[in-house]
Amino acid sequence: MLFEDLKGKRVLVTGSTEGIGWAAVQAFAAQGAKVGFNGRSAPRDLAQRLQAFEQAGVDAEFFAADLSRTPDCEHLVQDFVARFGGIDVLINNAGGLVGRKPLADIDDAFFDAVHDLNARSALMTTRFALPHLKAAAQASGQTSAVILVGSVAGYVGGGPGAGLYGAAKAWLHNIQKNWVNFHTVDGIRFNTLSPGTFDTAFHADKDDEAKARISAGIPMKRFGQPQDAAAAFLFFASHQASAYVTGQVLDINGGQFMP
Ligand code: NAD
Repeated sequence: MLFEDLKGKRVLVTGSTEGIGWAAVQAFAAQGAKVGFNGRSAPRDLAQRLQAFEQAGVDAEFFAADLSRTPDCEHLVQDFVARFGGIDVLINNAGGLVGRKPLADIDDAFFDAVHDLNARSALMTTRFALPHLKAAAQASGQTSAVILVGSVAGYVGGGPGAGLYGAAKAWLHNIQKNWVNFHTVDGIRFNTLSPGTFDTAFHADKDDEAKARISAGIPMKRFGQPQDAAAAFLFFASHQASAYVTGQVLDINGGQFMP
């Protein structure tokens, strides 16, 4: 079976109480992986979610952490390792617009907030996870995986007021090249999944008319659904499926943008 090596793997997905991250958590759970999911605070239905996982025989745990803060990145990794004994796969999914500000209105606080959430979070979580990912690769003889979540905005610059967001995503697309050059020796692969326009809370500021207008400009004429990205996370995570794949950006965007 494809991805069967994911059974029992310890997978941490950041920013995953809803949207693309939550779909990824469910996909890994369906493969028999041990899954940690995260948000700044617990979702209201946490007890039901954990109960559903337990009934399905899935070993899953929620970890509250605000990953725009470095100490929280460290605690998240520590707490995950204390619970599961190590990390095989890290998915840096936490991210978001923070807000929309044109260049003329950008101040230091907004610059920091956008970069803290989108760049610092992935950098620091990866930094603290690194020794655990290395140890897991050594113990298993298989590669560990880090997956970043970039964006079409990382190529095209972002929409109105989203220039800093686009730039932070481009930063992610780029920094994994350095990590590939210096940490492949540790048995870790780094890949980025770059979504186009996905139907999540991310686009809560748009009405149906705006969504229809955006859809019309996408060759597939629709937004992506969170599940549309799930199998790509499994592919990059699975040593069996992608042991020789590293340093890549996979665009999942219905043809919206072709680099
Ligand atoms: P979403 O708003 O539906 O989910 C965001 C998740 O991140 C939530 O689980 C939330 O709890 C969590 N989160 C937010 N701030 C956090 C913080 N400080 N610390 C920890 N967790 C935090 O968003 P989504 O659309 O599923 O986006 C997921 C990723 O995909 C993000 O990195 C986003 O930038 C990227 N992305 C989304 C789109 C899109 O169109 N939806 C397009 C390109 C890229």
